[in-house]
Amino acid sequence: MERTLSIIKPDATTRNITGKVNSMIEDAGLRIIAQKRIRLTPLQAEEFYAEHKDKAFFTSLVDFMTSAPVVVQVLEADDAIALYRKIMGTTNPAVAEEGTIRKTFALSIDKNTVHGSDSPESAKREIDFFFSGTEIVG
Ligand code: ATP
Ligand code: MG
Repeated sequence: MERTLSIIKPDATTRNITGKVNSMIEDAGLRIIAQKRIRLTPLQAEEFYAEHKDKAFFTSLVDFMTSAPVVVQVLEADDAIALYRKIMGTTNPAVAEEGTIRKTFALSIDKNTVHGSDSPESAKREIDFFFSGTEIVG
C-alpha cells in the first residue's frame, strides 16, 4: 500500500464540488484515510510550493491557494501516487484526458481543482506537512 497527499483547491471548495471530486477519487479505488478542511496562510502556501518559488506564476499560485478554504487529505491504495496523478489529469485541463478530475471540473491551468504528490519523496514531505501520525486513522 502507498500513500499520497491530495488537496482539493479553492476553485472546487467555492463551487461546492468537494463531494463530486471525492466520488471520483473513491470510485478509482483510492481510500481517503485522513482529511481536513483548512484555510492556508500565505506562509504555509509558500513553503508547500517552495519548489516553484522562482517560477513566474508563484505569486499568483500562492494568492489562489490562500483565496478560500482547501481540503487536504491522505489517499491510500496500491500505487496511490501514480493512480491519483492519472485520474487527476494533466496540469492544464485543456489537454487533460476525458474522464479525469481536471478535464471534468478544472477551470484553467491555475484553477485546476486538485493537487497530487508527484513522487514518494514529495508524498512523504507533503503528508508530514499537514498531518501528524495520530490524524491518519486508516
Ligand atoms: P500540483 O502540484 O498542484 O498537483 P502539477 O504537479 O500538475 O500540480 P506543477 O508543475 O507542480 O503541476 O505546478 C503546481 C501548480 O502551479 C499547478 O497545479 C498550477 O495550479 C500552477 N501552475 C503550474 N504551471 C502554471 C502556469 N504555467 N501558469 C499558471 N499556474 C501554473
Ligand atoms: Mg506538482
